[in-house]
Amino acid sequence: MLRVLVVEDNPVNLELVKFLLEEEGCQVTATDRGEEALQLAASMPFDLILMDLQLPGIDGYETTRHLKANPATASIPVIALTAQAMRGEEARALAAGCKLYLTKPLNTQQFREILRSITAGPQGSAPSAA
Ligand code: MN
Repeated sequence: MLRVLVVEDNPVNLELVKFLLEEEGCQVTATDRGEEALQLAASMPFDLILMDLQLPGIDGYETTRHLKANPATASIPVIALTAQAMRGEEARALAAGCKLYLTKPLNTQQFREILRSITAGPQGSAPSAA
């Protein structure tokens, strides 16, 4: 089961993302603040972080840079979510350390495929034979 941290300050978008993640069997933790995301990521294990780029307080770029600068959280893949899709924004998100960049409203089919590719990946959290 993927443990996913969702950093999103828009309640409607959070509900959609949570629904899609839980439908795929993910365990979801959510926050609307970058500062809290850093605390959560440092104190709980996550397999994936979904990061809204436009956040109150420190934004998604800055939050991602902090995650990537901390050895304890640097290896967690971060997928950027944005409502703006401005020129240069994708490059900026990737430069901050995001692995992928998705625009809102979310393409739900594409999102499911991305989740499945992460779940099925060689470093995915395949259940151990217990
Ligand atoms: Mn936002």
